[in-house]
Amino acid sequence: MHWKDIRRDSDAGLRLGILGNPIEHSLSPIMHNAALRALGIHGSYEAFAVEESEFQSCVYHLRDCGFMGLNVTIPHKELAAKISYADHDVVKILGVANTLMLTYPIRARNTDVEGFYAPLKNMQPGRALVLGAGGAAKAVVYALLSHGWQVSLYNRTREKAKNFVRFFNADIEILENPDPRNCNLVVNATPLGLHDEMPEILWENIGGDTCVYDLAYRKEPTELLKFAASKGLRIIDGREMLVEQGALSLEWWIGVRAQRDVMRKAVGLEV
Ligand code: NDP
Repeated sequence: MHWKDIRRDSDAGLRLGILGNPIEHSLSPIMHNAALRALGIHGSYEAFAVEESEFQSCVYHLRDCGFMGLNVTIPHKELAAKISYADHDVVKILGVANTLMLTYPIRARNTDVEGFYAPLKNMQPGRALVLGAGGAAKAVVYALLSHGWQVSLYNRTREKAKNFVRFFNADIEILENPDPRNCNLVVNATPLGLHDEMPEILWENIGGDTCVYDLAYRKEPTELLKFAASKGLRIIDGREMLVEQGALSLEWWIGVRAQRDVMRKAVGLEV
């Protein structure tokens, strides 16, 4: 349904949703609706495609209609932080938010940073190569630096990589040719995986104990993850991050522990 057609509905129960553009590929509605059912909560989680120019009106409209919380995805995460009160240090520092609580004023959190790092928490910090310098890469690099990783970065547009490194004011090497040699971790923070494409890096230099993490997710592993698995490398599917950031958002909205097993199953991950 178009967000402008949403009306207040006293029978709707708990109303949650996600705003993005494009949004069709999102697995968040399937995942969150399964989580609500498992908790016995009457309500729903809906996806809305929203133009940037209408983002703020959309958030206010959904709040007027009784929505309690929203996730925010590409390309609205900076705007989400701008129109809200930062309820979380990460939002203040990075200026990006993926979760809104539709109170007065609207409050914003960022669960991407913690969600991204959750599958890595048992790994010893080492050297990481990050591909991409967009909003997701910001959460990735912030998480890695906070946990003591040494980061190198490759981005298609070099100027953007330079601005990115300036923002962090940290010792991040910008690479001309993305080379995974001596890296413990390669993180793909580009959307290439959504289009059956793989980032072009010097795969022949990758070590056998390198872990490959693709943020882009589909209902099945991306080409990059299939390739890495065929080389015997450890892989982390972007759906792992999806589940953790979603569980953290839900827990903030409703104050009850989310059932991660149910959410994993809903997006096709092993339980
Ligand atoms: P942005 O648009 O902010 O950034 C995209 C980045 O990818 C830019 O650095 C861009 O480079 C690069 N890029 C885009 N297209 C190409 C291409 N064809 N070849 C090489 N580089 C390219 O997007 P986000 O950072 O918000 O998201 C990136 C991906 O991460 C998306 O697929 C998103 O769905 C996924 N994601 C997954 C999450 C999860 O929970 N698993 C959470 C958040 C994001 P340039 O600067 O040159 O344009």
